[in-house]
Amino acid sequence: MNFLASRLARVKPSITMAVSAAASARAAAGEDMVILTAGEPDFDTPDHIQQAALEAMRAGKTRYGPSPGFPAFREAIAAKFKRDNGLEYGSQRVTVGVGAKQLIYNSFVATLEAGDEVIIPTPCWVSYADIVQLCGGEPRPIECPRSSGYRLAAEQLAAAITPKTKWLMLNSPSNPSGACYSAADYRALGEVLAEHNHVWVMSDEIYEHIVFDDSGGFVSFAEAVPRLFERTLTINGLSKAYCMTGWRVGFAGGPSVLIEALNKVQSQSTSMANSIAQYAGIAALEGSHDFMKAHVEAYQHRRDLCLSWLASIPGLQADKPQGAFYLYVDCSDWIGRTTPGGKSLDDDNAVAQYLSDDDNLVFVAGSGFGLSPAFRISFAAAEDKLKEGFRRLKNAADSLY
Ligand code: PLP
Repeated sequence: MNFLASRLARVKPSITMAVSAAASARAAAGEDMVILTAGEPDFDTPDHIQQAALEAMRAGKTRYGPSPGFPAFREAIAAKFKRDNGLEYGSQRVTVGVGAKQLIYNSFVATLEAGDEVIIPTPCWVSYADIVQLCGGEPRPIECPRSSGYRLAAEQLAAAITPKTKWLMLNSPSNPSGACYSAADYRALGEVLAEHNHVWVMSDEIYEHIVFDDSGGFVSFAEAVPRLFERTLTINGLSKAYCMTGWRVGFAGGPSVLIEALNKVQSQSTSMANSIAQYAGIAALEGSHDFMKAHVEAYQHRRDLCLSWLASIPGLQADKPQGAFYLYVDCSDWIGRTTPGGKSLDDDNAVAQYLSDDDNLVFVAGSGFGLSPAFRISFAAAEDKLKEGFRRLKNAADSLY
């Protein structure tokens, strides 16, 4: 008898977490590694946010609270949605989770019946498909190649919808491609969705504030397509823009029926997000955002450096990301080449393995993101580390047969 539930067999551990952990273990054992896998800022949580957490602790805000989040935090989230996105949720229609990831998980637990389909444009964040599967649903990946700017076109969406489709998953700015959807892109998708009342939109906007000056700016899906407001769950959180990945705070706004369902799941799973982190979250949303400008400028500068270094490396190409902090590198021209050790590079897993084995250089292979052959470079890292990474990458390119 197999003791583990069969649904677990359909799911892989998060590849980004697995690759990062293996590389960190090698570094801890003394190997000179360059690890560019991080899905998190290399900046510390701003002081005023840390200070708010210390004060919350000292004030005894260390006890259980309501499952959907403390009222004051939900008020701050509702105000954020209104201020930044023009979305009028009000505090009853927002909820707080243990990171955006848990909110996505809770949403699928709350809504998917066996066999329900979720359309996922790829390349996409590594966890969407696995979470859908863990919840009994069927991921329907739709490849959005480089030639389409890694964005889903209305015709592709129309062709993918079936009577079993429950959700369309969107993520802009995108992890891993950095692609951003414009209001016009969203409106075109909205035209299709208007014809299919059974399909809802989950819009993961976790990289909202990390957009570059040539991006055309960020727009929230529900803001661009107001007629789908009642069928959209807007997911966001503190991890990326506020440098709070370890604090584990995400939030969402959506229709009451769905928010209440998420709260029910939350009340029977984690109970609530960490109380101290929620108080820090109030300071994050209501306090000064000045630090963000400096962070985004630093990411943009690193992005431009990485693109200039990449241009001198044979066989690798990447589009300029408009947001987030990743470069999605197309390595098609490396496939079929041979390493100095005589191994054939048959796919992007082999490319990532080659770089890791021969140059102690660690990226995440495109196979994890659903569009190959490619690999993802995180530029949320110090410039000297990036420079050394690209030196090794050039060396690896020059060594291929
Ligand atoms: N969504 C995307 C697109 C991400 O890249 C990540 C983290 O890498 C998450 C969600 C998870 O965010 P959180 O830390 O809030 O769970």
